[in-house]
Amino acid sequence: MTRVLSVASECVPLIKTGGLADVVGALPGALAVHGVDMRVLVPGYRQVIAKLPTQEAVAEFDDLFGGAARVLKAPLGAQVLYVLEAPHLFDRDGGPYMDPQGNDWRDNPERFAALSSVAAMIGADGIEDWHPQILHCHDWQAGFAPLYLRELGAAGRVSTLMTIHNIAFQGMASASRIGALGLPRTGFHQRGYEFWDSVSALKAGLVYADKLSTVSPTYASELMTKDFGMGLDGVLRERQEDMVGILNGIDETLWTPPYKTIAEKAKHKAALRKELGLPADWPGPLCVVISRLTEQKGLDILMQALPALLDRGGQLALLGAGNPGLEEAFQRKAQKHPGVAVRIGYDEDLAHRMMAGGDAILVPSRFEPCGLTQMYGLRYGTLPLVALTGGLADTVINASPAGLAAGCATGLQFHPVSAQALAQAMMRLITLYQDKETWTRMMTNAMASPVSWTHSAAKYAALYESMVKAKQP
Ligand code: ADP
Repeated sequence: MTRVLSVASECVPLIKTGGLADVVGALPGALAVHGVDMRVLVPGYRQVIAKLPTQEAVAEFDDLFGGAARVLKAPLGAQVLYVLEAPHLFDRDGGPYMDPQGNDWRDNPERFAALSSVAAMIGADGIEDWHPQILHCHDWQAGFAPLYLRELGAAGRVSTLMTIHNIAFQGMASASRIGALGLPRTGFHQRGYEFWDSVSALKAGLVYADKLSTVSPTYASELMTKDFGMGLDGVLRERQEDMVGILNGIDETLWTPPYKTIAEKAKHKAALRKELGLPADWPGPLCVVISRLTEQKGLDILMQALPALLDRGGQLALLGAGNPGLEEAFQRKAQKHPGVAVRIGYDEDLAHRMMAGGDAILVPSRFEPCGLTQMYGLRYGTLPLVALTGGLADTVINASPAGLAAGCATGLQFHPVSAQALAQAMMRLITLYQDKETWTRMMTNAMASPVSWTHSAAKYAALYESMVKAKQP
């Protein structure tokens, strides 16, 4: 069995703000069948501690970044979860990264440095007689772990993989905190963890980890370009040889449609329209959006392009939260237009009902490392209309003339990410929707798309194996 400690700031079913949590929660189960013993280490936020069924302490620290801390052990499905209980860092109201007012916690660098440092200690010394061979570090919150591991002198025998789920979040901190973060000053330079005179936890991971990965092959190559690399493209180009893109899968125990046949889907559409107060007799497709409302997701563009859908009898149901300006704009739209329903907030059950009831899911992202909602859409026969970028490019087969002629299309892609291109794509969507035979064919294709973890888990397992071999004397 390859032993891997997966280190992350979120994990379904305990704490989630985005796709990272889904992936971290799904990997241990998906990898178990490949002979990987993956255990997960997450912070003990108040919400997480409250959900733990058991609280067995398996490690203790007198002073971890300013207070006492323990590692608690709990089950995660059939696997093992370690929770870093550090009340001075994590026992608070608010979210994992922000206070109740929506401001980043000022001590975020220390909070996640603590997580990374405990991961490194587990790497160096093991925990409960369990000695991981690999630290799999997810995003900036785990970015310092490879560096701390080096400092502990264990990087020669324990391997590290840094996975980028979104390069927009880089874990920046003022250089004045180098001492407080326990970082070696010798690493504060351009080829180390320094980034524009500050400290970047993500860059530390990208520089010091043995291997790098991201969550789709297209994003892996996009990241090496100026347009997508967000200042780290040069670092990534230098490490091109060590970088792979492995697509996320979906957790089919959580995301399986409540219907077996396409015909049954109509009932879910009717129920969703009723629930959201959308007229039942409009002819067009019911499009859904389930998304964080941020610049990345391109929903400002959707707002501009919306008449192309609504004027042709289409409807929009949006579930999301985030940018207050966007929340307000969509709520205003819903008040004015009977074809638009908007729910602001985070609602896992409604997300499932929308996926079941929608005809199409819209994902007009400016960039999208992998994206999960288009994959849920495929699984549910809710055809994805997506921007041609990142994982959206890798998972959807465009209904281009060639895609249609070959009979393999599963959705629609548009490029560039502009209101005009999206409006045109929505018109194409409506035309396809009116052609019942083609639409049904596409739904059948979509539902048969390989979106489970099967393929990707095998790729991770092979990568881990090669990493373990590389460390063998
Ligand atoms: P990202 O991680 O960038 O937010 P992904 O598409 O990878 O985007 O993952 C988003 C995840 O969060 C999906 O599981 C999606 O269903 C869920 N999600 C996003 N917004 C909401 C919301 N308002 N309510 C419920 N689930 C949401």
